[in-house]
Amino acid sequence: MVDQEDTIFHKIIKKEIPSKMIYEDEDVYAFKDINPCAPFHCLVIPKNMQGLSSLSKANESHLDILGKLMLAVSKIAAQEKLEKGFRTVINTGEEGGQTVDYIHIHIIAGRNLSWPPG
Ligand code: AMP
Repeated sequence: MVDQEDTIFHKIIKKEIPSKMIYEDEDVYAFKDINPCAPFHCLVIPKNMQGLSSLSKANESHLDILGKLMLAVSKIAAQEKLEKGFRTVINTGEEGGQTVDYIHIHIIAGRNLSWPPG
């Protein structure tokens, strides 16, 4: 298992490297993606990764945090007035395009998003 403290997102949670906060509560932190692929692009992460280096590591013990992440997405969409729509993405594993081993949900919005993705 990847050590949570080894990832850039853990450093963001610890405020060891800067980020632009979008939303925060007791369990969840969301911040602007440093390389946005749309006018709005943020990442939603748990403050405590609980071993979830990727979605493929999920088990019943993660039900609470997975629900909180999804609820945070809905709150962020309302906060940011994404009423025209948005896309949520969880890249998982090498072929899934995951580059940071710390579970994260992308929220992408602000332009017409094509489907299927590349
Ligand atoms: P993924 O490819 O799904 O693992 O997504 C990782 C995302 O993290 C990419 O969209 C990166 O642009 C983003 N990212 C990497 N480093 C930072 C950082 N320091 N601050 C904000 N976003 C970052």
